[in-house]
Amino acid sequence: VSEQISTAGMEASGTGNMKFAMNGALTIGTLDGANIEIAEQVGKENIYIFGLTVDEVAAFRSTYEPKTFYDGDPGVKRVLKALFSNRFCPDEPGIFKPVFSQLMGIREHYLHLADFRSYVQAQERIGTDFKDRSKWLSMSLRNICRTGIFSSDRTIKEYADEIWGIQSQRE
Ligand SMILES: *Cc1c(COP(=O)(O)O)cnc(C)c1O
Repeated sequence: VSEQISTAGMEASGTGNMKFAMNGALTIGTLDGANIEIAEQVGKENIYIFGLTVDEVAAFRSTYEPKTFYDGDPGVKRVLKALFSNRFCPDEPGIFKPVFSQLMGIREHYLHLADFRSYVQAQERIGTDFKDRSKWLSMSLRNICRTGIFSSDRTIKEYADEIWGIQSQRE
């Protein structure tokens, strides 16, 4: 699974995700940048899209309160408490506290907690689909055979024609 999970509008991925998809990885990602291009090629049913859209992020940012999600979603609270409690760093107490503070900061720029539940749900779909081997392989194959358009040959030719205005010597 290729995780391209930056908040929408934060350049979730450039081209690295295309290389993974071409090689049969399934993508979990936000609706942004090249994740959108991949979704258009492979179809919404062959990619795991989650979270807010670019427009929703922009509209929500000025009123976003992490505490609403912390108080309103027991899963969010449990994960953040684990982070705060040194559960993952018994030998280095406190090293994750800055992460906790960042996530809980007022108007936290990336709206991380807002996408958390949707991310977990997408991961649950991944878990279910992965257990269905024929479904998983069919999704993977569709990613391989529908991403040829991202080949560097096609891209360079398009640059040569449309941007650089040059011709191949072999043409
Ligand atoms: C594709 C590629 C990148 C770009 O990766 P992104 O995930 O799009 O940022 C960077 N470095 C190398 C070597 C690559 O092949």
